[in-house]
Amino acid sequence: MVTTMQRTPATESGTVSSLIASDRVEGTAVYDAQGKRIGKVERLVIDKAGGRIVYAVLSFGGFLGIGGTHYPIPWPMLNYDEKLGGYRVEITEEQLKKAPKAEPVEGWEQANPDRDERVHAREVTTTAAGDAVAASLHIATVVRDALTTAGATTEDVAAIGVGVPGRVDPVTGTVTMAVNLGWSELSLGSELEDRLGRPCVVENDVRAAVLGLHRRRVVGEIEDLAYLAVGTGVSAGVVLGGRLHRGSHGLAGEIGHVIVDPDGALCACGQSGCLETLVSGSAIARQAREAIAAGRTTSLKASPEAPSAISVYHAAAGGDEVAGSIVEAVGRRLAWAVHLLVMAYDVERVILGGGVSHAGEAFVQPIQGELGRMRAASALAREQLRPDIVELLPPGADAGAWGAVVIAAADAGLGAGHGWEEVGHVLDS
Ligand SMILES: [Zn+2]
Repeated sequence: MVTTMQRTPATESGTVSSLIASDRVEGTAVYDAQGKRIGKVERLVIDKAGGRIVYAVLSFGGFLGIGGTHYPIPWPMLNYDEKLGGYRVEITEEQLKKAPKAEPVEGWEQANPDRDERVHAREVTTTAAGDAVAASLHIATVVRDALTTAGATTEDVAAIGVGVPGRVDPVTGTVTMAVNLGWSELSLGSELEDRLGRPCVVENDVRAAVLGLHRRRVVGEIEDLAYLAVGTGVSAGVVLGGRLHRGSHGLAGEIGHVIVDPDGALCACGQSGCLETLVSGSAIARQAREAIAAGRTTSLKASPEAPSAISVYHAAAGGDEVAGSIVEAVGRRLAWAVHLLVMAYDVERVILGGGVSHAGEAFVQPIQGELGRMRAASALAREQLRPDIVELLPPGADAGAWGAVVIAAADAGLGAGHGWEEVGHVLDS
């Protein structure tokens, strides 16, 4: 089994995590005799006695508008096509759809019951922002540590994926700007390749995360979804029709810099009143400091340390009025951000993550409250903002890390389910 390794610096916490994971066949695209993409390999079923793959279950959910429909196909009928980057099945889509639906068969079992790549090792460390020179050295060290823990070497690794909180050029592997890390024009990809001797792919961490959420089916069989990360900054990643939507500049989903209050605070991007200046972790902490400085009565004053976004949520949950009014306003803005994502991209689900979301229910409730108000006021909102439109990122989902694994696997040509064409990058230019 081929291994893929990835590592990613997380946006909000300033930590670096590294994990090593195996590849899988599940998720690989399937094309019909005419070369039309008709679905993907959902799972493999093996004959327990013979220990060999007997059939693959193909899923058509999303691709043909048939939600969650599964069909079995004898494994030998699937031939891997390098050019298509997926399996080709020599019958038509119509013939396939006439086949009996997949049912469990006595004596057969699923090849990879958990459908998950295995994590061989995990390392987490803190990065010092600002020192671009030390950055690649630091990252390379964490990767080597993870490899040592896994009992492996760089020789065992097909590719390395990196998620960076900032603007990246995935073709050159250059971090053009990472404000919170203090990096600009950092050739991270090639520096890591020099240090580790393996191909290295760099992507924005939120873009990587939404891809990881989609490929790992963290929220089920959804082909159009957005991931809204609320941390030090605010950013979204979008998967449309099962593909990462990067846009013409790789910035699709950068809604943190949508102006929502022209008279608001100056943003790091140069504009005033960006969404980020109102709802990011640093913005929440700033609003709490301002309230204290203005002499408002609040329990946040009691702590000798400056309030963090999470402490503001805790105080609000404990009945503190000042904290409560801050988180209410943030929740309203974030509900509008969800609405913006739904209206702009028509996604079926918006997953909420990032450091601030760790406040859990206290974070989600004000958002749900505003969404409820919007639904009550508008039939259009009721239709667009379904009751399950938002979902908190499940704990331990490791979305950014897995997204980086997916991208690295695609780069290394490991199964077209991770396909580069789906990721939306250009490999050779
Ligand atoms: Zn801005």
